Amino acid sequence: MKIHIDHRTCIGSGQCTLTAPTVFTQDDDGYAALVPDGSQTAPPRQVTQAALSCPVQAIAVRNDPPDA
Ligand code: SF4
Repeated sequence: MKIHIDHRTCIGSGQCTLTAPTVFTQDDDGYAALVPDGSQTAPPRQVTQAALSCPVQAIAVRNDPPDA
């Protein structure tokens, strides 16, 4: 799973950190940041929900292709 935060769009609302706190955190300025290795252990549904909760659609989630 690849997670991208558009830092130009993020307004620091904190919804992602509330929804998936093992994946998203906030930097010193209050904007979203990724927890190191957080996406490796997070339930995919939780990450998707966090992306959907973002009021400005600043989070993009791409699922890894299934193993061949
Ligand atoms: S929910 Fe969206 S706007 Fe709010 S902190 Fe997270 S990425 Fe930024």
